[in-house]
Amino acid sequence: MKRGGIAAAGSLAGGAAINAAAPFVLPEAVAVDRNRSHWAEALPAAAAALAATADADVVVIGGGFTGLSTAYYLRSQSPGQRVILLEAQRCGNGASARNGAMLLTSTPDRWLRAGDEPALDRRIHELTASNIDALRSLAARFSADIELDTAGAAHALLTVTEAREAKQTAARLHDAGLPIEFWDADRTHAALGTGVYRGALCDAASGQVHPGKLAALWRTAALAAGVEIYENTPVTSVVEGPLHTLTTAGGQQVRAPVLVLATNAYSSQLGYLRSAYAPLVAYVGITRPLEAAMIRQLGWQSRAPFDDSRTDEYWLGLTRDDRIHIGGGPQGYGYEFNNGTPPPEVPPERAAALAAELLRIYPQLGHVEFERCWAGAVDCSLDLTASVGRMGRRRNVYYAIGYSGHGVNLTSVFGRVLADLVAGRDAEWRWLPYLNRHSPYIPNEPWRWLGLRAVRAATGLLDG
Ligand SMILES: Cc1cc2nc3c(=O)[nH]c(=O)nc-3n(C[C@H](O)[C@H](O)[C@H](O)COP(=O)(O)OP(=O)(O)OC[C@H]3O[C@@H](n4cnc5c(N)ncnc54)[C@H](O)[C@@H]3O)c2cc1C
Repeated sequence: MKRGGIAAAGSLAGGAAINAAAPFVLPEAVAVDRNRSHWAEALPAAAAALAATADADVVVIGGGFTGLSTAYYLRSQSPGQRVILLEAQRCGNGASARNGAMLLTSTPDRWLRAGDEPALDRRIHELTASNIDALRSLAARFSADIELDTAGAAHALLTVTEAREAKQTAARLHDAGLPIEFWDADRTHAALGTGVYRGALCDAASGQVHPGKLAALWRTAALAAGVEIYENTPVTSVVEGPLHTLTTAGGQQVRAPVLVLATNAYSSQLGYLRSAYAPLVAYVGITRPLEAAMIRQLGWQSRAPFDDSRTDEYWLGLTRDDRIHIGGGPQGYGYEFNNGTPPPEVPPERAAALAAELLRIYPQLGHVEFERCWAGAVDCSLDLTASVGRMGRRRNVYYAIGYSGHGVNLTSVFGRVLADLVAGRDAEWRWLPYLNRHSPYIPNEPWRWLGLRAVRAATGLLDG
């Protein structure tokens, strides 16, 4: 027994030592993969790269929704400040223009556990729904058609038990004043055009958007507010201090007292937030525009996007120009060792699995051929809960992480939060359960890779 105890303690100590050594033995390089998605077609050409060393009041790394919206709010609130945004490729290169286009209210954790805390759900719903209104106003201000539709978004349920529970959840949320409806199997069939679900929860305030056009809008708004954007400018190192020094791949430097880290699933490449998230690679496929007759036959009357209730959920959407896109599912997520980036080409078996599922949901299609498939990394925290706040020895590094596949809308809510934190208005956000939150610890390699494999095997069993 004693010997067993010593062996166990020895293995634990050995495991902990390997864990601690991993970032040094397996350092991550800055390597940002190119966005090959359908949505990326709508992104504007990249601005010039940073050509000379510069000083700023705030430097933002990352030109996705988080970075662009934070920079926009910072400059809008303090027009005298010099705000520089550095993007490795072009704005919208990351998850912001690779996603499932679902424009959702709420947050990833409240979406999954809706109804547990109705008062909090209501407050968060109001905050995030009003952000969708703000996106609509921003688009109107810049006369941009970002294909924003709020015909609702649904969470489709695969089993009768889930449908029964969802009905109770919907009643609780409805009583708390949220516009959440329960659809029974028939209504779900009529709304989504498929009979594979036993019911659905529908949030009338949610909807969909063209992610590439939304990223382009944020970029336009940030530029108009006076943000200096430099693209094709990867940051390769950060030396923190009262004045941070960032060095770019071209050798130029930016010095600023405030750093906003908006690098999402790539943050660990700069040595940040490694234990707070794992970059899960998600795969997506999109069809060509369907014929009008096929759209009628499909019967997707609501045109609302939806995800389903699997642990490895699928999500689907119907675009304005009548394309269907599908992502996720048991074959639609992966993890590349040591926080690796998505492969340049989608493996054929992943695309085939997405096509097979799309045909299962909509047999009316007859056959499925994707015009394009792509991959993007999702910054998943262990408890699928986001975090936003400040960190570093001097508390002058600002971050948001852990959107866990629910960030198209939440990112610009956090953009406002981050701008307020930079301005010292922390008190306004104390009620938000994501402020300066410590995400559950995710160990380094090889435990991370082994653990994620084990979780995937378990969810495969759970989902059957
Ligand atoms: C496949 C997929 C499907 C999704 N579906 C949905 C959905 O339907 N609904 C939803 O709400 N959410 C969804 N999400 C999540 C959502 O897209 C993200 O939460 C959100 O876009 C994150 O935005 P961001 O600005 O924080 O990060 P990103 O958009 O990833 O931006 C980070 C930026 O930082 C840049 N960068 C990284 N490192 C450096 C560096 N060293 N130097 C300079 N620049 C750097 C990158 O190029 C990138 O442009 C999905 C995500 C994926 C990947």
